[in-house]
Parts: sequence; C-alpha cells; structure tokens
Amino acid sequence: MSFYQYKDTIEEGDLVFAFISRGTIKPIVITRDQQLNTRYGHYEHNDMIGMKYGQQMAGARGYGFIHLLHPTPEMWTLSLPHRTQIVYTSDSSYIMQRLNVVAGTRVIEAGTGSASFTHSFARTVAAEGRLFTYEFHEPRYNEAKRELEEHNMTGNTLITHRDVCNDGFELDNIPENFQHDGGINGDVIFLDLPSPWTAIPHLNSVISQTSRVGICCFSPCIEQVDKTVKALQDEGWTEIEMVEVAGRRWEARKDMVKDIKDVVKRLKDIQSRKNQGIENRRHAKVKSGEKRDHDQVDSGDNGSDSDKKFQNLGKGFNPFGKGIRVREGDDGFEWRNVTKVEGEVKSHTSYLTFAYKIPVPS
Ligand code: SAM
Repeated sequence: MSFYQYKDTIEEGDLVFAFISRGTIKPIVITRDQQLNTRYGHYEHNDMIGMKYGQQMAGARGYGFIHLLHPTPEMWTLSLPHRTQIVYTSDSSYIMQRLNVVAGTRVIEAGTGSASFTHSFARTVAAEGRLFTYEFHEPRYNEAKRELEEHNMTGNTLITHRDVCNDGFELDNIPENFQHDGGINGDVIFLDLPSPWTAIPHLNSVISQTSRVGICCFSPCIEQVDKTVKALQDEGWTEIEMVEVAGRRWEARKDMVKDIKDVVKRLKDIQSRKNQGIENRRHAKVKSGEKRDHDQVDSGDNGSDSDKKFQNLGKGFNPFGKGIRVREGDDGFEWRNVTKVEGEVKSHTSYLTFAYKIPVPS
C-alpha cells in the first residue's frame, strides 16, 4: 500500500478509500474477517481482497454500491480525522506549483497539524526529496507520526516535536539519509502557524545557501499577513506577494432579455396589487386564507411583445411573477448567455504570502 506508487489489486493490509458518496469517503485498512458498515449496508473486507482498485462493489445484500479507490493525498485530505483546520487541495496544489515543488525538493513545513498538506508534500517530493515537518502540540505530533508510519511515509518525511517559533528548525541528529551537505538545506518553506513572523528569523540557518529558496505563509487574517511581510522584508526575502485562492463554481446560464415595457408594466402591476391590498384591508373585505383574483388587476398598459407571447399561450399576462412559469431557454423569448457564480468550493480560505530568497555568494 502506498501513497507514492499505484498498484492494481487490493491486498490484505492495504489502505482503501471506500467512496460511499461525494460527502462520505471512508479510509479503511483491509483486515481479514472485518466489515465496513455504512447506512447503505455492510461490505466484507474478505470480498475486497483480490478486487481491482477503482472497482464498484455491492453491499452484502446485493445493493448499495460503493467504489474502492486507491490512496492519494487528495483523497486523504477529504477523509482524514480533523485535529486542526487543514489545507485543502485547492490551496495546496496552487502553492505546490507556484513554489515549483517537484521530485527531489527539500521542504520544511510547520506546523504539521492534521498532516493534510504533509501527505501532499511527501508524495510530490517523492523518494529523492525530503520533508521536515514540525509540530509543537504533543498529541497532534504523536497522531501525525503514527499516521506517517502507517502510510509508509517515513522514508522521505521526518516529523519533529518542536516549538519552531521559540526553538527554531535546526536538528542535532539528522539521519544520514536526510542530510544534504550535513544539514537540512531546505528549498521550500511552508508555514501554517498562528505567528509565522516569529519563526521566519530562525529559517536562515536551515535553508539552502546555494539555490533560490521559496516560502509560503498561510494566514487567515490580514493583520497576520502584515506582520509576516514585515518579518520577511527584515530577513532579506524578496518578490513578496500575497494571493488568495477563492474557490468558486461557475455555471453557464441563460438570462431572459426583458423589454423595458415589460419592466414598467411589472412595476405598475406591483403598485396596483399593493394599492388593491391596502384598499381591501381598509374595507376589511379580505378574509383570512382567501386568494385575490390577479386577473382583476388592471395596470393600464397595452402590453409588450412578451405580454403578447403570454397571451398567445392563453394564460393571461405575467412575464416575471406568479401564474406562468417560464423555463430557462423556453422558445418564444429572447435569451442571452451569462455566467453565474454558484456556492463556494470547500476550502479554508487564507491569505498566501509568497517570497523568495537568493543566496548571496560569499
Ligand atoms: N497545515 C496543516 C494541515 O494541512 O493539516 C494544519 C496546520 S494547523 C492549522 C497549525 C498547527 O501548527 C497546529 O497543529 C499547531 O499545534 C501548530 N503550531 C502552532 N504553533 C506552533 C509552533 N510554534 N511550533 C510548531 N507547531 C506549531
């Protein structure tokens, strides 16, 4: 089982993501004689052994289909146990490409938190890269360490229990296969901390002295960005830029082109209904629950083109409101194509402050 390499067939001990619905993805470790229980039914682990990753599986009663998916950091981000706020893929993928994290990159990350971004970094830097991740909250450190071990990620990822703001990033006993020129030598830094500006001065001794180093600080408040930018400037970081990744779903829609006459008529219609209501109330003629007869309302207009279209439909006039329901794109009306913003895509919107440091030749 590996987040690093794809394989075809599910074996005992493998991590599988049971895709139950878009909002419910369960990571399970295949264990003989165990079951996955869901609201749609139960699924025997024994039956999963030998199936192909990506295959669909029916519940024990023959219905309630789920998919068995291969581990990826992106799936882990969607299903991991939350111990903190996490970085979602919309942000991590942007940061990764902007800082040019590739196989072989040496990354420094703090804090580890729920290890969401840790998984993405570990996969992307691959076997030849290294990830140094730091967490000062002991239970979170222990949980993340256990997960990294279970997910076979310790070959390129070293987690350290440390307060980086007070004690910095330097390590006394770096395992030999994690050293580069005898030290950490980070190419890329990612700080998701409440006060990154206190950690920034500690970076100088652990970053590469021979190549350009990139940093990204992830902060939810603009006041934090302000302090971070100041610390970056003080420490000689350049090309400082702040961006926000705002996830939006855009939909292509048709919008009815309305005639000015229709709009005027609509306003008159509203006013006349309002007047009629006031009049009715004054004369106490409207009994509770009784419906008004809209057709009696005379707004005093000869009617526009869309008015006539409605009359042709034999339903009386009401181009925008009650009565006739016009469906988007219906024949007989003029439409223009527009784009509309739908609800936000799930992400923990923070400000991303990027900067670079170029080593000065000695
Ligand atoms: N990026 C992580 C993820 O994607 O799962 C989430 C990080 S979480 C928002 C911030 C973490 O930083 C917390 O777990 C917190 O304990 C840790 N932290 C805060 N101050 C720290 C410090 N001075 N040194 C090390 N870790 C720290």
